[in-house]
Amino acid sequence: MSDRTVAALSRSLAKGEFSSVELTQDYLSRIALHNKGLNAYITVTEELALAQAAQADALRAKGQHGPLTGIPIAHKDIFCIQDVRTTCGSKMLSNFIAPYNATVVERLNAAGTVTLGKTNMDEFAMGSSNETSFYGAVRNPWDSERVPGGSSGGSAAAVAADLCAIATGTDTGGSIRQPAAFCGVTGFKPSYGRISRWGMIAFASSLDQAGPISKSAEDAALMMNAMAGPDPRDSTCVDGAAPDYMATLNDPLKGLRIGVPRQHITKGLGAEVEKALQEALKVFESLGATVKEIDLPNNHLSVSAYYVIAPAEASANLSRFDGVRYGYRCDKPVNLEDMYKRSRSEGFGDEVKRRIMVGTYALSAGYYDAYYLKAQRIRRLIKQDFDAAFKEVDVIIGPTTPHTAFKIGEKSDDPVTMYLEDIYTIGVNLAGLPGISIPAGSTNESGKALPIGIQLVGSDFAEAKVLNIAHQFQLNTDWHKQTAEV
Ligand code: GLN
Repeated sequence: MSDRTVAALSRSLAKGEFSSVELTQDYLSRIALHNKGLNAYITVTEELALAQAAQADALRAKGQHGPLTGIPIAHKDIFCIQDVRTTCGSKMLSNFIAPYNATVVERLNAAGTVTLGKTNMDEFAMGSSNETSFYGAVRNPWDSERVPGGSSGGSAAAVAADLCAIATGTDTGGSIRQPAAFCGVTGFKPSYGRISRWGMIAFASSLDQAGPISKSAEDAALMMNAMAGPDPRDSTCVDGAAPDYMATLNDPLKGLRIGVPRQHITKGLGAEVEKALQEALKVFESLGATVKEIDLPNNHLSVSAYYVIAPAEASANLSRFDGVRYGYRCDKPVNLEDMYKRSRSEGFGDEVKRRIMVGTYALSAGYYDAYYLKAQRIRRLIKQDFDAAFKEVDVIIGPTTPHTAFKIGEKSDDPVTMYLEDIYTIGVNLAGLPGISIPAGSTNESGKALPIGIQLVGSDFAEAKVLNIAHQFQLNTDWHKQTAEV
């Protein structure tokens, strides 16, 4: 089981080299061995996994299987799974047992995946390092002193450390792509509206999007085939069937026009990351692509606009956690107000409180125009920059993050520095576009190899194109095959 891509595992399952139950047991024992150190899972669903695996084996025996039948998956703990604790990384939901499955979970179940458990994450998906989780920080499998990125850090670490074959994540400002870059795996955020958000706990509803975290773009395409498509329960999910993402993976790249944003290659970008990007561009050129500089003139405003819009939406979304309906309620409240106050003060962590306060302020009468409306205008400008760029190029390629994984504790006292880590990813969410991070190099700071990711951004709903370009890169490089020694 050394090659743990879905494609390879699926071939072995088909040949009968091992059953899904055996494969699942192998992952469960790896989790038992390594999760204490990594803290990638909040909950392990052993019983559910073994039952689903037995079911998958039975389907396979009858010839009723697809490419994901019997493949062990981990779900970010933001997705509701029926009868399973769903915490969203928060004390607030530490006792919440979801009464239904998220659409994403339902669809992946229907595709035959085997649920190993729920992965750790920044509280309510707010963070870039996984340090804001109530359940403790996740450690990066490449270097346990470092963060795995966030907020889908548990999912990225679990894929990197072979504690699952594939995982789900969500991305509001970079939370799939940044941890994928830090952990040396492939992380894909589809266009806003491509995948249903039903049953996915809301952070910032106009930005949140689910997506796959995997060992290759091919595996991401397999997952997309199960995850994408309309859902009557989410009115922001686009109508019309999603395409077959596998069908175009092998399209040649000859004639592909790549744009590299001038605003991404600045002095804030680490030298090693820039070098990896330049090497990657050469690979694309050797495959027949052309590279030119483009402009995203308002990119520098993206983080500021995001930190008005996302907290504003979060403050509204998180008002439902009041001690009445879900989750945590303080001990012995003396009256209603005391219950609201103490339940929220005790149930939420500092970062979540910071966002609720900023968001409430930005939405309050008198400040709405100055902050929220202005941020929305900037969002429009950012979208227009991308639209203009896509008139000239087919894909935009740049770094995913300015640097490789930082040390645990290094930025946790300085929220603004932490926020700036997302400078290359956030604009993509504000514009609603598809973006993927793929491994494209490694550095050797502090004697330990650390992965570097590059980001490929496509135009509206060009998911298939983005996956095609990433897959062609992976056919011609080995960075995605490097594994962390845990
Ligand atoms: N790091 C960003 C934030 O803290 C993005 C998080 C996300 O994409 N969920 O909001």
